[in-house]
Amino acid sequence: MAHTQSANNASPVLEVKNLRTHFQTRRGELKAVNNVSFSLARGETLGLVGESGSGKSMTCFSILRMIAKPAGKIVGGEVLLDGTDLLKLSEEEIREVRGKGISMILQDPMTSLNPLISVGKQVAEPLHLHQGLSGSSLWDAVREVLALVRIPAPERRLKDYPHQMSGGMRQRIVGAISVSCRPRVLIADEPTTALDVTIQAQFLKLLKDMQKSTGLGMILVTHDLGIVAKNCDRVAVMYAGKIVEIGSVRDIFDRPAHPYTRALLRSLPKLSEKHDRLPSIEGQPPDLLDLPAGCSFQERCPHAMPICRRQEPEQTEIAKEHLARCFLVDEEAEA
Ligand code: SF4
Repeated sequence: MAHTQSANNASPVLEVKNLRTHFQTRRGELKAVNNVSFSLARGETLGLVGESGSGKSMTCFSILRMIAKPAGKIVGGEVLLDGTDLLKLSEEEIREVRGKGISMILQDPMTSLNPLISVGKQVAEPLHLHQGLSGSSLWDAVREVLALVRIPAPERRLKDYPHQMSGGMRQRIVGAISVSCRPRVLIADEPTTALDVTIQAQFLKLLKDMQKSTGLGMILVTHDLGIVAKNCDRVAVMYAGKIVEIGSVRDIFDRPAHPYTRALLRSLPKLSEKHDRLPSIEGQPPDLLDLPAGCSFQERCPHAMPICRRQEPEQTEIAKEHLARCFLVDEEAEA
């Protein structure tokens, strides 16, 4: 299988290899993450896109080993953070990695913040736990982090509770907590879904600025290709628990190879065209408990061939660091 390397030649900060996460349900085994591989360089942003249920969030939760037990289980693969396999760490060791090595921003800031604790104390907690700071050095660090996420008058906001802040401000506090211990990787799972468009753009710019000043690698999970085009270096397109195409933003937007990627791009609204209804992708994703033999996209694919119903396509390299899982790619390469 070809490798899904990060775009620049620097050694990757994160490598995910053949990751597989399954859930036991009453109806059988559900393959939520099915052989996912990619890497992430320092300072790079990788967009993870796909419809709901495609495995984007499950991939991220698997990286941090935050899978609901006992139903969910990581059944195979490696997650290498600077060469250390996180899947082999003890519970205590992985707790150290969360926040300090890799941190995560979730879509709804209210579910990430405790409504009963002041924001200052919530920002202080990881700095105390992971960096052992206390007293005045702890509060200096809290003020520094709040300034990094551009909270106006941070000194005055330390005693505020989450409900006293706007949605955009709360999301910045979540951002502050996530980067407070200078993680090497930040996973942002639909971080702007709960925000209005202007605040959304401001928060994404803030994440990019933080990335520039700290050099962290970022995985941006979204279903919004517009956000990907503006904020990512590379894109991985997920479908039915697999990465079906991965490449630079330019490759994916200018030369999409997989029929699913092309369909996603067609569903993007264009300012120059008038639509009564936004185009959507015909059909439904397959039932993950009852995946068809062969390619998972076959029922929705306008190009499906007999081989697609018999055999699962392997990942094929189309150009340097641009890969897709589709027999059409193989055919075009042979033509
Ligand atoms: Fe379509 Fe076949 Fe390619 Fe799957 S492998 S996306 S069914 S052409």
